[in-house]
Amino acid sequence: MHTASSRKNILIAGGVAALAVLGAAVVAPSDGYYLNIMMQAATYTIAVAGLVIVLGYCGQIALCQAAFLGIGAYCVALGTVDYGLPFFVALAIGVVVSGVTGIFLGFATLRLGGHYLAMVTIGFQMIVTMVLTNWIGFTHGPDGIPGIPRPSLGLVDLKGGSVYLGLCLVVLVAVTVYAALLKQSRLGRAMQAVRDNEIAASTCGINIFRTKTVAFGICAALGGLGGGLFAGAFSYISPDQFTFNEAIVLLTMALLGGVESAIGAVIGTILLVLLPEWLRFLRQAYLAVYGGAVIAIMIFMPRGVWGLVVGRFVKSRPLSDDATAPLPLLARTGEVSDTIVLDVTGLAKHFGGLKAVDGVDLAVRKGSVHALIGPNGSGKTTMLNVITGLYVATAGRVRLGGRDITELPPHDRNRLGMCRTYQNIRVFRGLTVLENVVIGAERAGNDVSGTDATVERAIAALDFVGLRQVAHLPVGDLPYGHQRYVEIARALAGSPEILLLDEPAAGLNLTEKGEMAALLKRLKGHGTTIVIIDHDMRLIEKVADHITVLNFGRRIADGDPRSVFKHPEVVAAYLGEARHEAA
Ligand code: ADP
Ligand code: MG
Repeated sequence: MHTASSRKNILIAGGVAALAVLGAAVVAPSDGYYLNIMMQAATYTIAVAGLVIVLGYCGQIALCQAAFLGIGAYCVALGTVDYGLPFFVALAIGVVVSGVTGIFLGFATLRLGGHYLAMVTIGFQMIVTMVLTNWIGFTHGPDGIPGIPRPSLGLVDLKGGSVYLGLCLVVLVAVTVYAALLKQSRLGRAMQAVRDNEIAASTCGINIFRTKTVAFGICAALGGLGGGLFAGAFSYISPDQFTFNEAIVLLTMALLGGVESAIGAVIGTILLVLLPEWLRFLRQAYLAVYGGAVIAIMIFMPRGVWGLVVGRFVKSRPLSDDATAPLPLLARTGEVSDTIVLDVTGLAKHFGGLKAVDGVDLAVRKGSVHALIGPNGSGKTTMLNVITGLYVATAGRVRLGGRDITELPPHDRNRLGMCRTYQNIRVFRGLTVLENVVIGAERAGNDVSGTDATVERAIAALDFVGLRQVAHLPVGDLPYGHQRYVEIARALAGSPEILLLDEPAAGLNLTEKGEMAALLKRLKGHGTTIVIIDHDMRLIEKVADHITVLNFGRRIADGDPRSVFKHPEVVAAYLGEARHEAA
C-alpha cells in the first residue's frame, strides 16, 4: 500500500494519462463548442480537486471554492491585462494569493465547528463577490475583463485552443496525481484521521488545527490554479462567474463524483458540465430532470460515482507473509524500576459543580503495570483525559519523565511518549487496519522514520496483537473485539514511554477477554509501562503491580494489590456497587 512501488504506479499512471490527454487534445477537432466545454470541465475539475482534499480527506466543509476560483482568475486577468505581467507569473501570483487567503481564512475560522464553519465560508464567498462587483476602479466591476491573453512557453505557442486545452489537461493530470500521492502521505493520513476522529487523532500526535489549516490552504490554492487557467481559457471573465451559486455547483460536483479521490472530481465535474448539454433537447423540462438526476445519483450513490466503483470493484490484497523485525519494545527487560515515569499530583477536574476528579495523586513507576480502578462514574476516564491533555485540569500538575506537561496539548504529550486507547473505541473508520496503525507509528518522538520503516513498525505491532492477516481491510469490517486490538496496536506502534488503556476488555466476550488478558501479560513481560483501567478484578489481580482506587473522584486507596483489595473502603465501595447493580 504505502510502499514506494505504489507511489511509482501512481506516477507512471499519471505520466501515461498526461501524454494521452495531451495527444487527444491536440489531435481532436478544434471545434469551438467542444473546446469550450472541455476547457470549462478541465479548469473546474482542478478547483473541485481542492474540495476533494478539504472535504473528502479532511472532512471540513468549504462553501467558498468559487471565491478562490475568482481570486485566481482575477489575478491572471488583472495581471496580464492591466499590469502587463507574463501569463505564468500572474498565474503563480493567483495560486499564492488564493492559498495564503485560504490559510488565513482557515486560521480565523477552523476552530469553529460544522455549521459555523459553513456560515463563515458562505460569508467569505459573498464578500469576494461583492468586492469583485463593486471595487470598479480595481476589478472593472460588473463589466468584467475582456482580452485576457493566452501564454506561450518558450518557443511553444499555447495560444491555439486545442494546445491550451492540452495545457489545462496536463495540469489536471498533475493535480490528480498530487491528490493521489497526498492521500498516501503522512499529511494525507493525518487529514483523514482528523476527519474520522479528531480526539483520537490528537492523542496520536496530530496537530488538528494545523492539519485543517494546511488542507484549507491546498484547497484554496487549487481553486486559484483552476481559476487562473479558466481566465486564459475564455479570455473574458466577470464577477457573476464566481458567485455563491458557482460555489454550490463546485461542491455538488465533488459530492457527485465522490470525494474519496480526485478521480471523483473528474467524474463529477464532467457529469455536471455535460448533463445540461445532454438534456438540452428536453427544453423547458430540462432543469427539473437535471435536478432530479443529481438528487437520484446522490441518493443511490452516497459515496459518489467513484466511491461506488471503488467499493464494488477495488479489493485490496492481504499483506505478504514476509518476516518483519519484532517490536523493539519486546527487547526490553521486564523489570520494574524505582524511577517515576508519570507523576500526577493534586489533580482535579470539575464540570461545573461536579467534582469528577478531586485532588488525586498518582505515581507510576517505570516498567510497572499500574491499575486505576473504582466504581462506574468514579472519575477514571476523566483522569485519563486530563493526563492525556484532552481536558484542561482544574488544578494539579502532570509530569512525564520529570517534565511538567500540564499545559501541553494532546499531540505534544504524544510526542513525549504518551499513547492511549479509549473506553469507547476510537479508530479511524475511513482507513484500513494498517493505515490506522501506521498513524500510531508516525508518532513524532518515535524511533522510526521514513515510510517503509514506519509501515514495517506498524506491521510488527499488528503481528503482536495477531491482526496481520486483516491488515488490508477497512477497520470498520473488523468485529468489535478486534477493533480494540487495532487501537492497542496503534498505540504500541508508537513505542510509547507510557501506555494508557481505558477498559481494554470492555464489551468483549469471555474468549476475547481471555485473549486480552494473555496479550496484557505478554506486554507486561516486556516491561512496558502501563496504566490500565478495568472492571475485571481477576484480570487486574493477574497483571497489576500497583493499584490506585478512586471513588467519587477521590483516591480512597493506593498500594500493592494484596493490601488494596483488603482495604475496608475499597470493599465497601465495591460491595455498594454490587448491591446497586443487583438492584
Ligand atoms: P469512570 O470512567 O470512572 O466510569 P468518568 O470519568 O467517565 O467515570 O466520569 C466521572 C464523572 O464525571 C461522571 O459523573 C460523569 O458523568 C462526569 N463527566 C465525565 N465527563 C464529563 C463531561 N465531559 N462533562 C460533564 N460531566 C462529565
Ligand atoms: Mg470510564
